[in-house]
Amino acid sequence: MFGLPRMMFTEEHDLFRQSVRDFIAKEITPFNDEWEKQKMVSRESWLKLGENGFLGIQAPEELGGMNIQDFRYNAILIEELGLSGCSGPAIGYPLHSDIVLPYILHYATEEAKKKYVPKMVSGEYIGAVAMTEPGAGSDLQGMRTSAEDKGDHYLINGSKTFITNGYLSDVVVVAVKTDPSKGAKGISLVLIDREMPGFSKGKPFEKVGLHAQDTCELFFEDVKVPKENLLGKEGDGFKYLMTELAQERLVVALAAVALGEYMLDETVTYVKERKAFSKSLSEFQNTRFKLAEMTAALEQGRIYCDQLVMLHNEKKLDPAMASAAKYNMTELQCKVADECVQLHGGYGYMWEYGVARAYADARVQRIYAGTNEIMKELIARKILK
Ligand SMILES: Cc1cc2nc3c(=O)[nH]c(=O)nc-3n(C[C@H](O)[C@H](O)[C@H](O)COP(=O)(O)OP(=O)(O)OC[C@H]3O[C@@H](n4cnc5c(N)ncnc54)[C@H](O)[C@@H]3O)c2cc1C
Repeated sequence: MFGLPRMMFTEEHDLFRQSVRDFIAKEITPFNDEWEKQKMVSRESWLKLGENGFLGIQAPEELGGMNIQDFRYNAILIEELGLSGCSGPAIGYPLHSDIVLPYILHYATEEAKKKYVPKMVSGEYIGAVAMTEPGAGSDLQGMRTSAEDKGDHYLINGSKTFITNGYLSDVVVVAVKTDPSKGAKGISLVLIDREMPGFSKGKPFEKVGLHAQDTCELFFEDVKVPKENLLGKEGDGFKYLMTELAQERLVVALAAVALGEYMLDETVTYVKERKAFSKSLSEFQNTRFKLAEMTAALEQGRIYCDQLVMLHNEKKLDPAMASAAKYNMTELQCKVADECVQLHGGYGYMWEYGVARAYADARVQRIYAGTNEIMKELIARKILK
């Protein structure tokens, strides 16, 4: 990367970036290999992030946060995690702060906010969001997890799958059917916490990539959820999901560009060192052109994402724009991953090499947070309306 100036960042942002970078170098990168083997990051790492003020920075001060309503700071955290190449942490921590927490801050009752937000900011409680079910992913309206109205509580039955942070989760935003006859309007969101009897978790899945990340199934068997744990209004869950998914998709796009840059940096270093036919790989025209193509595309992607972050700060990022960013940047990330592995030759296929892991980790970015086919549907719906 030759580094176009990032006009949107001030000196304060740069100082924050440096503190995040130092923290990652000390507290995340050295542990990533171990976490990959354990299939999850450590609980201590969550507490350390909390101690350093890197979780839920947008939460109000009275709930333990810093009341930072400037998404550039969130973007810096996501970007620096991505640039470290630690893909598991780059997905799991932002999911907690930028995807789960907003549901609680925007829609939870005051009691629920007081109960969960301070613990999520300190890292004592880890958050997850559970929409997908074994029989319903893209087609969320087909979900079956039921919430029966029992007066002062709901009785929840069903299961969710592929839940990021699921195994370690302490509080989960769960999409349920409060009225199965009403399609999207019968979907509501509730907060389920680890203490509730009847809530259990499967073992972390054996995934192709994102090994330092606990993805698992969640089971609900007659779980009594008090009505105070309903988010917003009954029946409005789908609306809230559609609103909040814009930020989720921006987060995925930001991580995609940063992880792409990480792979490119690794590859630039590698091709300068590796020799073939008595030359450095970097002297072959194919190598030079591939690096140039990737640099040009990532520079463009980065500036595009910067623009979207600023739009989001002004509350002008609409769901179709966020879908376009998620689609565009994750396709780019996967293309970069493939080219970088190719430029590494056989070493690019060895787990000890950063690009090999980044290649495996990249693939799912086109699948979760809404598949890229669904992103294209959302974009088409907007331009054809
Ligand atoms: C590692 C990982 C982490 C995840 N984390 C979470 C999480 O934290 N919370 C959560 O709720 N979910 C999570 N998911 C689930 C993820 O969001 C879903 O897998 C995804 O939405 C796709 O759903 P599905 O797997 O059921 O595939 P399906 O919906 O069955 O799709 C299969 C294929 O059909 C295509 N398809 C489906 N409908 C259409 C259509 N209308 N037009 C064109 N093509 C279509 C899809 O694009 C895809 O290619 C995670 C998944 C993974 C793998």
